[in-house]
Amino acid sequence: MNSPLNNTALNLVNVTLEYPDGDGTLKALDTVSLKVRAGEFVSLIGPSGSGKSSLLAVAATLVRPTAGLVVVDGEDAGGLPDSGRTALRRDKIGIIFQQPNLLPSLTAVEQLVITQRLRGGTARAAGERAAALLDLVGLGHALAKRPHQLSGGQRQRVNIARALMGNPAVLLVDEPTAALDHQRSEAIIRLLRQVTDEFGVATVMVTHDTDFVPLTDAVASMRDGRLSGRAATAAAAAPRRG
Ligand code: ADP
Ligand code: MG
Repeated sequence: MNSPLNNTALNLVNVTLEYPDGDGTLKALDTVSLKVRAGEFVSLIGPSGSGKSSLLAVAATLVRPTAGLVVVDGEDAGGLPDSGRTALRRDKIGIIFQQPNLLPSLTAVEQLVITQRLRGGTARAAGERAAALLDLVGLGHALAKRPHQLSGGQRQRVNIARALMGNPAVLLVDEPTAALDHQRSEAIIRLLRQVTDEFGVATVMVTHDTDFVPLTDAVASMRDGRLSGRAATAAAAAPRRG
């Protein structure tokens, strides 16, 4: 029970998120609860507008919920002031959106190093970690390439490596393959599977493509702001980790 793989890294408890909507309110999230353990990879599916991105925004501490608890790596984000939430996000959460949003003038290594400077540490250590992570995601040959010299899939790999720079406990991924063809999409999901295992990170991935759900451990489905229970996938049932 005390194995790191059993530790809850992300815990959402009865999270509700309301937006003003005319005279009333719209419930983007309606008493949503979700627990994700370290090393676990959860797919989040559901129709457009069902609240998937809202769930990630709340889990990322980018948006405060109207009600409910958001606990990241044991820390209750709701109890923190904005500065504390920023620090929590920087130190414990990796965020990967559909568009990599790389800075056009920076090389692949520099994209990673610049985020690490905000966390402190030496430039040299940051450069070494950046190079190692880019190598891990298959870009060891492209350290000095700028975004326009990389393919869409390669840019998404830089994005993934960048999200891992701070050694996060939680990885939040929103439609990472929406701009990629099937083969490149599968390679990206397999990479996310690999880093979830190797880094013991708790990964939640919004995906429209149910083909790749079997590469993840569990699938949760959203509709009208409500989360239906998680179901284990074949990957969770198989003794993959030996
Ligand atoms: P999904 O990612 O599943 O497509 P979203 O989380 O983006 O769904 O949206 C859920 C609901 O919340 C939708 O009805 C959407 O219009 C609404 N919504 C999302 N963000 C905002 C916002 N910033 N202000 C008002 N309504 C929002
Ligand atoms: Mg969305």
